[in-house]
Amino acid sequence: MGKKGQTYFCEVCRQKVEVVKGGFGILVCCGQEMKRVEAGSMMETWTSVHHKPAEGTSYICKVCGQKINVINETTGILECCGQRMKRE
Ligand SMILES: [Zn+2]
Ligand SMILES: [Zn+2]
Repeated sequence: MGKKGQTYFCEVCRQKVEVVKGGFGILVCCGQEMKRVEAGSMMETWTSVHHKPAEGTSYICKVCGQKINVINETTGILECCGQRMKRE
């Protein structure tokens, strides 16, 4: 259940995404729920250091309309609402 501006990461492959448009679906990568990066946490610091917005790839969920920007891209499969997210 993403909200605009929130950052999520996958504990398996370390893929990191930023929510551009919120939706009701739960973001999944590598078959498990992505973890939200809390503001002010160590992960947040790590995220800002590695932030590369210019290279961001966008994915959208056709079911709930949730849209994300990939900050740190990996080969992990992104899913929302039980299906693969579509690359924009
Ligand atoms: Zn992953
Ligand atoms: Zn969805």
